[in-house]
Parts: sequence; structure tokens; C-alpha cells
Amino acid sequence: MTTPLDRMADFDLSEEQRQIRASVREFAEKEILPYVEQYEQEEKYPLELIAKLPPLGLMGPMIPEEYGGSFSDVVSYGIICEELARVDWVVASVVSVSNSLCAGSISRFGTDEQKQRWLPGIANGEVICSACLTEPGGGTDLGNMRTTATKVDGGYRLNGTKVFISHAAHASLFFVVASIDLEKKHKGVTAFLVDPRATEGIRIGDFPMRTLKRDNLAEVSFVDAFVPEECVLGEPGRGFPVLGSALDTGRFSVAARCVGQAQRCLDLALPYALDREAFGRSIGEFQLIQQKISDMTCRVQTARNVVYQLGRMKDAGVERCSMESSMAKLLSSQAAVQNALDGMQIFGGYSCTAEYEIGRLLLEAKSLEFGEGTSELHTKIIAETMLGARKG
Ligand SMILES: Cc1cc2nc3c(=O)[nH]c(=O)nc-3n(C[C@H](O)[C@H](O)[C@H](O)COP(=O)(O)OP(=O)(O)OC[C@H]3O[C@@H](n4cnc5c(N)ncnc54)[C@H](O)[C@@H]3O)c2cc1C
Repeated sequence: MTTPLDRMADFDLSEEQRQIRASVREFAEKEILPYVEQYEQEEKYPLELIAKLPPLGLMGPMIPEEYGGSFSDVVSYGIICEELARVDWVVASVVSVSNSLCAGSISRFGTDEQKQRWLPGIANGEVICSACLTEPGGGTDLGNMRTTATKVDGGYRLNGTKVFISHAAHASLFFVVASIDLEKKHKGVTAFLVDPRATEGIRIGDFPMRTLKRDNLAEVSFVDAFVPEECVLGEPGRGFPVLGSALDTGRFSVAARCVGQAQRCLDLALPYALDREAFGRSIGEFQLIQQKISDMTCRVQTARNVVYQLGRMKDAGVERCSMESSMAKLLSSQAAVQNALDGMQIFGGYSCTAEYEIGRLLLEAKSLEFGEGTSELHTKIIAETMLGARKG
């Protein structure tokens, strides 16, 4: 059934983009959604679900066709992230990390050898990627990282610890940032493409979480881990622009994922509000519940508009859209969190039971508010750009 919101969401999309949305939604609802809760309960990484993505081109939506990818345009990539996130945080995350942070950076800054080595494997699902950015001392202030890359004959030795690393135990490509000179702060930051399976001195340990146990988040330690020279992505000491560009696209895909999560909360709340009765009427007849439904609807569509607008800017060739990325990330992550809260209120006490998905979505949405820049960071970026203290 097409709802008024579907009609609004599809307005202004090309026929091809509409088809992408319809086919990814059908696939996600049939092939992913029915299994997610079981993976969460078993605390099992959903490798089998991820394996269903490559035949449909869903592992390489930002990878050019010449490298085996299915890139058509950035808005379509956003639609894919949105629709996958509507059913599962982890499956959407693997696509988003692999494409925005890793493949996107390799496409923009990689050598021909690096492109040939990594991009086809990411697109065909053989290579799962992890981004090793956050450190125990902090994730927001990335210029202050403590992981070092010491120059030695033929390469670098990495030393340091990264935390909260999604997909790490299953990844065969780590996008790592480390400093070649701590005193130079962000001017020492260097980006590396590391094969964790072929590198001695990398330890992948547990990083226990209260939620998203199916993602098996990890602590990754580098102890004198040698990486050859050709693993540097871009130039030594020029990792901050690589990181900035990666996060710019990363924020777009995380924002799209937030739209998917916010939509899911609404999709769950609507039938419940119609079915659940109190005082002899369906709760959807009470104005206070209707207020929440209206707020949830406006929130998700507003966030979607801002995210698609950002995608269109990128499709038009605007290389850096930092302020717009921050706006999209800020608005959509707040929409996902607030829709989860309103959705839970509609479900009442049942939102806290294992029977219903809505309670799980709250912590998952909240985690999206932290990843790739917290709300405070994005608020700061927007304000500083508007005040002329920072370039957009
Ligand atoms: C589920 C999940 C998955 C993740 N996956 C990954 C991953 O795969 N790879 C990876 O590298 N990281 C990952 N992260 C980490 C995430 O990117 C960090 O949590 C995030 O960057 C924030 O860093 P932090 O938690 O250290 O908070 P901190 O940087 O310590 O910040 C703490 C608080 O202080 C605020 N703050 C900081 N600076 C300022 C300021 N200047 N002004 C105002 N307020 C400020 C922050 O907004 C926040 O509210 C993941 C996190 C989660 C929850």
C-alpha cells in the first residue's frame, strides 16, 4: 500500500531512484528483517545477512562500475542506506562504513594499485571494512589522537589503541588514522589502508556494549604493527583532508540511516496506535497520541528532505559540503532518537518488552547520534560556518 508519506518521499526522485527504493525495501523486508532479532539475541554478527547484499549490487553503491561497483548517483546511495537501516543497523552500517569511509576515500585519494587491490573485493563482498578512528582518550577531538606511525625502513610501525570499532573481527581492510608526529597535531595525521589478516601486531579484543551486541564492536590494538609504505592513503601528514572527505560522505550515509530508523519507528507506531485500545477506543483516537504521530511524520520527512538535498549537492559536484553534512547528520539523528522516544511512548510498557522492536531502536538511534560526529560537534560546525570562523 502506498501511503501519503511514501508519495512525498518519492516526489522529485527519478524513476530509477524510485525503483531502487522499491526493490531495496522489498529485499530488506523479506531477506533481512525477519532474522535481525535472532542475531541480536544470539549476539551473533549477521554475516549470512551481509552475504545477501553483493549479488544485488548493495555492497558497492559508491564504487564505480569499472571496479565492480554499482554506483549510479549519491542520492541513490542514500536511499539504499535509508532502506537498509529501516530494517537493520548492522547491515546498513557495513554498507556505509565500507562505501563512505573506505571505498570513497580510496576512490578519491588512492593510487591505481590501491583501487585495484581493494575496490572490487569490497563490491563483491569479499572485503568487509572497518574504520579505526576513535581512541580511548576521545573520539570528537580526532586531531588529538595518540596512535603513532613511526617511520622505519620500507614503511611504518603503528602503536596505539582504537575503540568502538564496528565489524573489526570480520574485516579484512582497516582504514586507520595515526600520527607521524604527535606534536604537529592534525598536520601529523596520516591515513593507512591496513590488511589486519596479513599484519603482525594487531590485536582485536572485546568491547562490550549494552546494545548492538550483534555488531561485536571491538577494541583494536596496534603493537609495533609493521605496514609497508604503499599502505599510506594520500600523503604522509596529509591524512586530515582524507579523513575530512571520508567523514563528509560518512555523515551523509549515517544521516540517511537515521532517516530509515526514524521511518521505522513511525511504521511500527501507526498500526499499534490503531489496534491498541484504552477507555473503549483505539489509542490513535486520542489527541495526545495523534500529536506524536504528527510530530514523528513531520520529523522524518524534514530530515529526509535535508539528507536528499545534501545528496543532490554531491551529485552536482560540490566536493566539500561540511555544513550541509552537519545539518543533515544533526537533524536526522535527532529525528531518529525522538521518533524512537515517541514510538516507545505509544507502545507504553510494551516498548520495554522483548516482544517489540521499538525499545531496541532507541539505543540504536542514540548510537547514531554519536557516530561520525556528535550533535554538539555538528552544532559547533554549523554555527562556526555561519559566523565565518570556518569554511563550509
Ligand atoms: C555503536 C557505535 C559504533 C561505533 N563505531 C565506530 C567505528 O566503527 N569506528 C570508530 O572509529 N568509532 C566508532 N564509534 C565511536 C564514535 O565515533 C564516538 O563515540 C564519537 O566520535 C564520540 O566520541 P566519544 O564517545 O569519545 O565522546 P567524546 O569525544 O569523549 O565526547 C563526550 C561528550 O563531549 C561532547 N564534546 C566533545 N567536544 C565538544 C566540544 N568542543 N563542544 C561541546 N561538546 C563537546 C561530545 O559531543 C559528547 O557529548 C562508534 C560508536 C558507537 C556508539
